[in-house]
Amino acid sequence: MSDVKSICVFCGSKPGTDPAHAEAAKRLGQLMAERGIRLIYGGGRIGLMGMVADAVMQAGGEVIGVIPDFLMKYEVGHEDVTELIVTDSMHTRKRAMFDRSDAFVTLPGGLGTLDETFEITTWKQLRQHDKPIILVDVNGYWQPFIDLAQRTVDGGYAHAAIMELWTVVDTPEAVFDAIAAAPQTDEVVLTSHL
Ligand code: AMP
Repeated sequence: MSDVKSICVFCGSKPGTDPAHAEAAKRLGQLMAERGIRLIYGGGRIGLMGMVADAVMQAGGEVIGVIPDFLMKYEVGHEDVTELIVTDSMHTRKRAMFDRSDAFVTLPGGLGTLDETFEITTWKQLRQHDKPIILVDVNGYWQPFIDLAQRTVDGGYAHAAIMELWTVVDTPEAVFDAIAAAPQTDEVVLTSHL
């Protein structure tokens, strides 16, 4: 997948306790701007979300935030991005982020980040899209998530091929090659249980 113009980044609305996570967020934003890749994200100015958006803007890149109106006050909607889209619900927010993005990248985060990552992955399992999904596993943060996915395979609830729905990388630098090399999903295998 070479023609990536916009990447959606899912990450925490808090900064977390590991400084390496903040560093990864800032670095990813900088690398995206350097490559002329637009950031699509949840529109907040706080936590890792704010850091990645600020890094893109500071490096001269383009940022589109998508935030539901009820979260504007909690997440402190980021007014200093290229465009801030305010939606009427979480569902329309997710759809708006999905429609504008060529690939998805997950940095460390909380329940919202987990939800977004699972949802975009299950849409891919159901062949609703075939866009790359990259987990940035800073200091092993996503290993329990990967283990849980493997548990669903081992337990007979998912095909082994689900483990190829994502690519796991250790650093922001590795994200772009991983997007370019992301495998196509196998329609027969992934939907054979439907
Ligand atoms: P978090 O990882 O919990 O800090 O949340 C990161 C982003 O996910 C924020 O933009 C939240 O608005 C969003 N989010 C939080 N909870 C949910 C949820 N239940 N479903 C979808 N997104 C959520």
